[in-house]
Amino acid sequence: MVAESGPGTSPTPNRHIRLTSHSGAVDALTIRWGAATAKDRGPVIGTTTTRAHRHVIGTHSGSYSVYRALAVAAGALSPAHRADLTNTAPTDVIGPYPQWSEPGAIVSLDPWGAMVADAFTTELAAGYDIRPTIAVTKAHVMLPEITDAIARGRLNPDGRTLLSNGAALVTKAAIEPVWYLPGVAARFGCSENALRRVLFEETGGMYPELVTRGDLEVFLPPIGGQTLYIFGDARDLADPAVELTARVHDECNGSDVFGSDICTCRPYLTHAIEECIQGAQRGGVGLVAYYRKEGRALGEVTKFLVYNARKRQAGGDTADQYFARTECVAGVQDMRFQELMPDVLHWLGIRKVHRLVSMSNMKYDAIVGAGIEVGERVNIPDELIPADARVEIDAKMAAGYFTPGPVPDADELKIAKGRGLI
Ligand SMILES: [Zn+2]
Repeated sequence: MVAESGPGTSPTPNRHIRLTSHSGAVDALTIRWGAATAKDRGPVIGTTTTRAHRHVIGTHSGSYSVYRALAVAAGALSPAHRADLTNTAPTDVIGPYPQWSEPGAIVSLDPWGAMVADAFTTELAAGYDIRPTIAVTKAHVMLPEITDAIARGRLNPDGRTLLSNGAALVTKAAIEPVWYLPGVAARFGCSENALRRVLFEETGGMYPELVTRGDLEVFLPPIGGQTLYIFGDARDLADPAVELTARVHDECNGSDVFGSDICTCRPYLTHAIEECIQGAQRGGVGLVAYYRKEGRALGEVTKFLVYNARKRQAGGDTADQYFARTECVAGVQDMRFQELMPDVLHWLGIRKVHRLVSMSNMKYDAIVGAGIEVGERVNIPDELIPADARVEIDAKMAAGYFTPGPVPDADELKIAKGRGLI
């Protein structure tokens, strides 16, 4: 049961299954996670065509790896396709920074992932299929809240960070997950074996190598990654003397994109962007790190079920039942687990966040716990909280979220403030 397929092999129904659970990759290069240089660390190679070169579990593109498989199955994509990386180099150089080789500092992304075309020219020329896991580009972002802030005089276009048409100039980076399993296990306080076994079992046995190939320590999980929006000069992020305004934001499609008013996600996000622009205009730098962890990483189906459970419960939608309703449906209150979140801050070389635009105690604790200093914490202004989102924000403040004002008491939390299902 082997049948290696080489580049150019088209998928056919009769082809033998290629097992990934047996060793034999004699041509595979070594990964020395945390090494100080790209050359010492070695490239991350998740190719599915040249089996002998593979030295990771999983494949590239995060959650989109499944769509890639679908494209191959449909005959739309050759599995042997190699990326032409001409002109794809990052617009801004990020690092290398000392954090890249500090033990345990970065375990969930490849710090060298943006510069593979430069760092591994020899290996690429030798035929290794090495793909970037990070891409860095430039963009103009236009948001109605920013245009409104200009109209109200809170923001002033300077032609550099903010244009008169309301466009903010950013450097943005997309990052795919690359997990160093021993480091991820250590972050969550479990054994590597336990982590491997549970990842294998709870994905229905999706990656047998997790349990059969203890020698492969890097896993490319089929999950969402993160996107960074940098306002100002990306190099300033690593200079603790330059004021950094930052928000670490977990995806909430309903609010972020569609303006659903049951939570504060979009208003807090756009407030953070306004703060980032102001910070950059003061000579500082701004950062919004956006994590694809929809609905506290529970997903939108669970999230919408919770909305119904909250709004249909006896007594209406109240803050005192906010977390309980989530736990009833999902089994936990939250699945985001901020333990891996600070990795990207280390990738950017950040030592100090002067203004953290977040009230989350979990995010704050994770950042400070990662050895990054946090100065001021910036709450969402009251006037930006939608009426229906009062339930969420009260519940969170009572649970330990930062607030410069009074924490709601038990009686206050019992008052129904959420709309019904209309
Ligand atoms: Zn939300």
